[in-house]
Amino acid sequence: MDCTLSELTETVQAAGAPAYRARQIHEWIYRKYARAFAEMTNLPQAMRAELAAQTTLMPLEPIARRVSKAGDTQKVLFQLPDGETVEAVLMLYNRRRTLCISSQAGCAMGCTFCATAQGGLRRNLTGGEIVAQVLFFARYLHDAGEKPKMRVKRPTTVTNIVLMGMGEPLHNYDSVWNAIRRLTAADGFGLGARHITLSTVGLTPMIDRMADEGIQVNLAVSLHAPNNPLRSKLVPLSRRYPVDELLASVRRYIAKTNRRVTFEYALMRDVNDSPALAEDLADKLRGILCHVNLIPLNPIPDSPFQPTSDRDTERFAEVLRAGGISTTVRIRRGIEIDAGCGQLRHSAAA
Ligand code: SAH
Repeated sequence: MDCTLSELTETVQAAGAPAYRARQIHEWIYRKYARAFAEMTNLPQAMRAELAAQTTLMPLEPIARRVSKAGDTQKVLFQLPDGETVEAVLMLYNRRRTLCISSQAGCAMGCTFCATAQGGLRRNLTGGEIVAQVLFFARYLHDAGEKPKMRVKRPTTVTNIVLMGMGEPLHNYDSVWNAIRRLTAADGFGLGARHITLSTVGLTPMIDRMADEGIQVNLAVSLHAPNNPLRSKLVPLSRRYPVDELLASVRRYIAKTNRRVTFEYALMRDVNDSPALAEDLADKLRGILCHVNLIPLNPIPDSPFQPTSDRDTERFAEVLRAGGISTTVRIRRGIEIDAGCGQLRHSAAA
């Protein structure tokens, strides 16, 4: 599950089979979303058995699933081969099927308002484990689309991916980019890079590295405060990579890629939601090709942070807009099934 078509071809040839077998396997994985080698009916029986004995096709086992009342959001808890667990959330919109995936089991960043941070980092996911989350839901949507009774209509595959689940994607850089390459490859999952968003807490050297990848996914940066003393209380990593350095790396990213960057800002009552801070934020971001996404804070256990009221959220947004900053308020999804931003935490869901 970790390899590209050319790597797979090498493996297949090394085992003495013709190269076209690799293409067949690849097609079963990325076009037909096979979950087991046994399904690959155009391969010789012996080859299927040997592959199954040597490797796992689907390294994720769904062990729990929660669906929102409206049926438009669902969260699946997956178990990995070593027993670790991660979550992914599928959101159905009119024309989009957006999947929020995890890049690590747990997270080391320690953001004080985030549930995933509470358990610390368990381990990095492999590229295969990241891609498998997408293939699992692609298969689900494909199968559901074939059953008219289910309320899933077209499109019957994953159309958008956000790396906003558990973990910090730039803290697991190589696996995440291994996954992005296979998700965007024409002979892989084939999703347009612009349909993928990578959200980071701001490891500035890695943002610079991303700018040189040549695959232009959307970059979202979790800012949450316009100044470093306040941001450091919410995002401890800010002590190492302060706000101004972070914004400098974002400017370099935009200069290289010409892509608009999104800043995420989770509003916490009486912490980072005053109109004065909104003005500071507008001043900081002025001149940067960006968009601000205000996230109503999702409540998490054992946390002192409370969400900002709707009225104050709107007021914060208005100050930003008046300051010339394009701003939207993110629509809440999945809160009641603990699938909202920052709520993912495997121990609570198990
Ligand atoms: N580590 C990455 C991606 C995972 S978190 C990052 O920090 O960007 C995805 C988004 O949810 C981030 O913007 C994060 O700050 C936000 N988030 C975390 N906890 C939250 C909470 N309790 N309520 C609302 N948003 C939260």
